[in-house]
This record gives sequence, C-alpha cells and structure tokens, in this order.
Amino acid sequence: MGGLSRQCCARFLNGGGMDLGIRGKRALVCAASKGLGRGCAEALAEAGVNLVLNARGEETLLQTAEELRVTYGVDVATVAADITTEGGRAETLEVASDVDILVTNAGGPPPGHWSDWYREDFIGAIDANMLTPIALMQSLLPRMMGQNWGRVVNITSQSVKAPIPQLGLSNAARTGLTGFVAGTARQVAPHGVTINNLLPGIHDTARADALDAAAAAEAGISVQEARTRREATIPARRYGTPAEFGRACAYLCSTHAGFIVGQNLLLDGGAISATL
Ligand code: NAP
Repeated sequence: MGGLSRQCCARFLNGGGMDLGIRGKRALVCAASKGLGRGCAEALAEAGVNLVLNARGEETLLQTAEELRVTYGVDVATVAADITTEGGRAETLEVASDVDILVTNAGGPPPGHWSDWYREDFIGAIDANMLTPIALMQSLLPRMMGQNWGRVVNITSQSVKAPIPQLGLSNAARTGLTGFVAGTARQVAPHGVTINNLLPGIHDTARADALDAAAAAEAGISVQEARTRREATIPARRYGTPAEFGRACAYLCSTHAGFIVGQNLLLDGGAISATL
C-alpha cells in the first residue's frame, strides 16, 4: 500500500468508520445499560471515547461496561443510580464532573388519557424528562465552555415533532426541554459547545418489545404479528437499531459537527410524513 493510502486509512478508517476526532475525550451517557443509551455509549466507545455509564440496575450496567471495555479498549466507569433524582445525579456527577460530552436519557413517562393526570403526574414527568437533562447541562456546561469545547446530545422522542396522543406526559415534558435547548444552544455556541436533540421513532429495544407485547395482548394476536403491523406503518418497513441511533449520536458529538447547533434530528425511518 502506498504512503498516501496508508495515511488515509490511518486517518479515516478507524475500526471501519470515519475518524470522529474525539478519541481520548470523556463522555457521560445516562440511562445507558440497554437500548438507545447503550447504542450511544457503544458508538462513542468505538470512536475511542472514555465513558461514565449510568443506569439504575447494577448487574446489567456492569455487564455492559465490561463488554465495552473489552471490545473497544476504552475506560468505562459506572454509576448505578436513578438519574431523575437529585441524589442519583449528585452521585453521577461526582464521577463525571470532568466530561467533554454529555448524553442525557432516562425512561419515558407512562401512557394514559389527558383527563387522568394530576399535578404530581406532570411534576414527575417534567422532573424526569425535562428538569433532569436541564440540571445535568447546568452542572456540566460551565466546564465545557471554559475549555472551549463540548457536546451535549439529549435523547427526546419523535413525539416532540408529532405528538403521540396517549403519551401526553411525554409530549409535554419533552417539548419543554426542546424549548429550553433551542435558546440555550445559542448561548453556549460562542464557547465551542453544541447542544442538539435526537428524536427516536420506533427502535428495536426492550421498550419496543413491551409495546408490541401490550398491543398483541389487546388485539389477541401474536407479538410477531403486532410487530409486523407496526413495521408496515414505517416507510423503511423496519424498526431502527440502537447501533444506527448510536452512530448518529457519535456524529453529533464529533469534531465534524461543530456547526450543528440547537437542531432536532428525527430518526424514524420516514414515519412522520412532513416536508421539513
Ligand atoms: P430501554 O431499552 O428500556 O432502556 C432504558 C435504559 O435506561 C436502561 O439501561 C435502563 O436501565 C435505563 N434507565 C431507565 N430509567 C432510568 C433512570 N431513571 N435512571 C437511570 N437509568 C435509567 O429504553 P429505550 O427504548 O432505549 O428508550 C430510551 C428513551 O428513549 C426513553 O425515554 C424512551 O421513552 C425514548 N424513546 C424510545 C423509543 C423506542 O422506540 N425505543 C422511541 C421514542 C422515544 P435501568 O432500568 O436498570 O435503570
């Protein structure tokens, strides 16, 4: 192989992918032992980023951390805690106060009907899916701005763009976060820090399996049939994968994405039919 080709390979082909320019940086990925959070953690690890991973259940968290260490050779610290509580955030931030990259995530609020919810239900959803990411940003942005480089990616939902009626709590809380990010992203951008949101459509995770199982039970059909029906509603005719979701996250965290500020990127296989 010629010198130039070798150089190209070394520069651009890192484990088969583009060099994201973030090798050696450190990231906190919340709610990351499974699903979309894990997908983000894995893609960042693949890019050479050292990690702090958070989830409530310790066993799966430790297992995920070990798999990423062994596969990608990066440092992985873990904090088993509920990120939506003040105590859980304090524990996590003790380990993650020096991160360059923040990926916020947590479980979503339960479904229901607009007339069923009381003040406490709204406060719970807003706490988990709006005020938790905001508190994490408020803690971690100052250091990122001080070093003139940082990346924040919030995992929200397609429901921000097209509301899912039975997920009223989620629609409300996540839209609130989206409004906060829209303004704040412009305030921190002069300091080399970007904040963007990723909006998942249906992805192949434990949550999607649970939704299929519930739909199957209600319609008296098999889980596979429920999934086939849902897949038929998506132009891509399949669910998204945590791996492709994670790579979109890693790209937004890369050095190449520094001019992408305050955006909401929908990953839904074309499910929401809209021109913009
Ligand atoms: P998942 O497969 O069920 O994984 C959730 C992960 O988050 C697990 O690692 C879980 O571990 C952790 N977690 C949950 N609550 C937590 C908390 N309070 N503190 C710390 N860790 C927590 O879910 P997912 O499908 O990846 O969904 C992630 C987010 O994307 C959710 O908010 C969901 O509503 C949203 N979303 C998902 C889809 C989809 O199709 N998958 C579509 C739209 C939006 P522990 O349980 O051990 O804590």
